[in-house]
Amino acid sequence: MPAYDLVITNGKVFFLDDFVDVNICVNEGKISRVQKNAPESASRVIDAREALVLPGLIDPHVHFRDPGLTYKEDFLSGSKGAAAGGVTTVFDMPTTQPVVTNASMLQEKVRTVKGKALANFGLFGAGSVDNLGDIDGLSRAGAIGFKTYMVAPPKDRMREYAGSFVTNSGQLYLVMQAIKRTGLTHCIHAESDSTVACLTERLHSEGRKDPMAHYDSRPNFTEAEAVYDAILLSDALGTKIHLVHVSTREASDLLKSARARGVNVSAETCPHYLCFSKEILNERGPYAKYNPPARNEDDLVSLFDALNEGTISMISTDHAPHAKEEKELGRTDIFKAPPGTPGVETRLPIILKMAHDGRLRLQDVPKLTSESAAKRFGLYPNKGCIVEGANADLTIVDYNQNWTIKASELQTKAWETVLFDGMAVQGKVKFTILSGEISFEEGVGFAKAGLGQFIRGNPNY
Ligand SMILES: [Zn+2]
Repeated sequence: MPAYDLVITNGKVFFLDDFVDVNICVNEGKISRVQKNAPESASRVIDAREALVLPGLIDPHVHFRDPGLTYKEDFLSGSKGAAAGGVTTVFDMPTTQPVVTNASMLQEKVRTVKGKALANFGLFGAGSVDNLGDIDGLSRAGAIGFKTYMVAPPKDRMREYAGSFVTNSGQLYLVMQAIKRTGLTHCIHAESDSTVACLTERLHSEGRKDPMAHYDSRPNFTEAEAVYDAILLSDALGTKIHLVHVSTREASDLLKSARARGVNVSAETCPHYLCFSKEILNERGPYAKYNPPARNEDDLVSLFDALNEGTISMISTDHAPHAKEEKELGRTDIFKAPPGTPGVETRLPIILKMAHDGRLRLQDVPKLTSESAAKRFGLYPNKGCIVEGANADLTIVDYNQNWTIKASELQTKAWETVLFDGMAVQGKVKFTILSGEISFEEGVGFAKAGLGQFIRGNPNY
């Protein structure tokens, strides 16, 4: 009888804040030993020579569109992309159909997606003034946290977002108050509803339909305004908030000063805000439309600074696929295209390229892609780090390989819309491992769907 189920040898393992030469021994889904010595026998040995071994990647912001919008993506295609991208855990947003606004919808969603999951998954509940009475129930049903948009969707997409947005600070106050009682983290999409609505209205009246009109409808200060309001309310109430997809210097400055005075606020940004400035709208039209929009070179610099100093502690993807035909609607009128772009599979090699180019520290990559999210959403140290006793969620990536992203080879149903197509990146994912089971192996393929487990939120952290 072998001593271990799985042993990973010869890798550069991220252990206690640095990459070191140790071996990882796994039994019954957990890391049972991290040791220098050659381990005893194992049922399976992975030789990770030349590769980095990272705590399994967490993507705290994806839209896998299941149930309800599965022509765009479903949990199988979405989580296959996650597995191929080295991601072991995703947190899926509540804007599926129906929107996850109460406990029974959350439970129904778990039943719907469980058998398709190739990544562990947490599910957000929506928070708005329409479901204040359901917030506690969502928490008890296992929501990983809550999500609120501070900006209303366009009129023809109201149904799709019903129950997930607020349009003024009073409403946000009531929602934050209810979420505070759950102890969970409140994710906030910060764009000022009144300002965006006003500017959009004016652009319509001027007949603007060109791609850059998207940026002009949501200039930098529309994000900063909303971030300011959210921070004030979090400060007043003590609710743990997490700002999703921060895109501007103005917002990161506000975040930095709020954190310095002890406001309980964290934040993420995404690869598309780090890779592209707003000129991408002229180049790629509706395919480069997402909310908030791509910004300016100066904002990119500020986002890298914020990541390097810890003001922004996570890089999520906001993986938000749409059908090509839907994006094409924006060809002649940018306002007709839905916002969002896929990215769950390409995050790690893009970030490793940034590390390779010296824009991020390689030692910070595990924190940005796993540890900070695990801590913020109450999963640490079972996830987010490699220590004895933790879940054996691991990502093995060959950092020496540089390659070029080919959208047609990605798992997402929306591969034709991928903005990162043709981009030179660094690091090939070799193995993705969930609780000691291989979900993806390069050159071999995927495990059977259903390996991913539902991760309940933890209110006691
Ligand atoms: Zn999103």
